[in-house]
Amino acid sequence: MSNIDLPLQPNGYKVQWSYLPKQFGPNSIDEILGLLRDFVPTGDLTLGKPVREFEERFAELIGTKHAIGVNSGTDAIRLSLKAVGVGPGDEVITTANTFIATVGAIAENYARPVFVDCTDNFCMDVSHVEAAITERTKAIVPVHLAGQMTDMPALMEIAKKHDLPVVEDSCQCILGSIDGRSAGGYGRTGCFSLHPLKNLNVWGDGGIIVTNEDDLATHLRRLRNHGLADRDRVVTMGGNSRLDSLHAVIGNWLIDQVHFITDTRIDNAAVLDRGLGKLPQITIPERFDNRKLVYHLYIVFAERRDELVAYCKDKGVEVKVHYPIPVYQQEGLRPYGYTAGDFPVTDRHARTMISFPAHEHLTEDQLLYMIQTVADFYG
Ligand SMILES: *Cc1c(COP(=O)(O)O)cnc(C)c1O
Repeated sequence: MSNIDLPLQPNGYKVQWSYLPKQFGPNSIDEILGLLRDFVPTGDLTLGKPVREFEERFAELIGTKHAIGVNSGTDAIRLSLKAVGVGPGDEVITTANTFIATVGAIAENYARPVFVDCTDNFCMDVSHVEAAITERTKAIVPVHLAGQMTDMPALMEIAKKHDLPVVEDSCQCILGSIDGRSAGGYGRTGCFSLHPLKNLNVWGDGGIIVTNEDDLATHLRRLRNHGLADRDRVVTMGGNSRLDSLHAVIGNWLIDQVHFITDTRIDNAAVLDRGLGKLPQITIPERFDNRKLVYHLYIVFAERRDELVAYCKDKGVEVKVHYPIPVYQQEGLRPYGYTAGDFPVTDRHARTMISFPAHEHLTEDQLLYMIQTVADFYG
């Protein structure tokens, strides 16, 4: 039994999933409110200076030429697909295990999601992509789920061969990379979310698109703002998908910490890998020497998963499952004609994976307590 004594967090757990109460807690809240107090009276509240500054800093972070702030990660994907020419009747290839937002962004362009299974690192099994390509395929959306990376060098070769645009769903993978090249920097665009529970977050919904193409960047800037080329000229049809300036103020405050956040998650994951990896009932997904995995989610495979989840929660460890029902099996996706069993790796993951907190506000004792709790469970 564990002899580590931990205080209860505000939500009743000893190891809490959300870092938000600490991130925006007593140490920082006054500083941020001070920034907002200075900013609001400027009246520069839509597409203002903080948005431009955040876009510049974000592009630099990822290593792309442009970044375009939008109002969510979902809209980042939706607008990217529209901008690369996806429309009614087209097919878009993505993964069967992704978060629903990826699929919704495809559907909202009146296109059909075509799923392929994932590998044991939770990302698209690139070896299945060519078999999924048809005459109607218009784009490929790899998802760097959990802060892992899709095999982008291999996928880009396939995309090039078939002349298909790639839109990266990098919402869970800020600063992830393969051989030093960042997630989001491979495709025609890379799409990021600033949702409160993403690795770089704001005080609500926000997103950002990166690209190296000048024309595409200009087009995306118009799509997010009513198709306006300037104050008086509408040159294409768009809507309102702007990143709020208030959120950009928060983003500019937090972006200084994003390397620290990432590196701490990586360190925490290494501690968990070492501790949990010793248990024969736990399988750690493959780690790759040439990939930087950023552990938006720290996921392992566990025997007797459901019992372990209940045990951990009972002992005060706020674990989660991402996701218990694979998206391709969800009721809302029935019209696409998929049935349970179509994607066996995704299905196996839904039964066996468990996510542990790995955020930058965890203490060493909390990490050890999680490992000890799992060890206790298996006896
Ligand atoms: C969070 C997320 C999105 C959508 O981001 P929002 O900002 O919540 O709209 C898309 N794809 C994946 C994989 C995500 O995790």
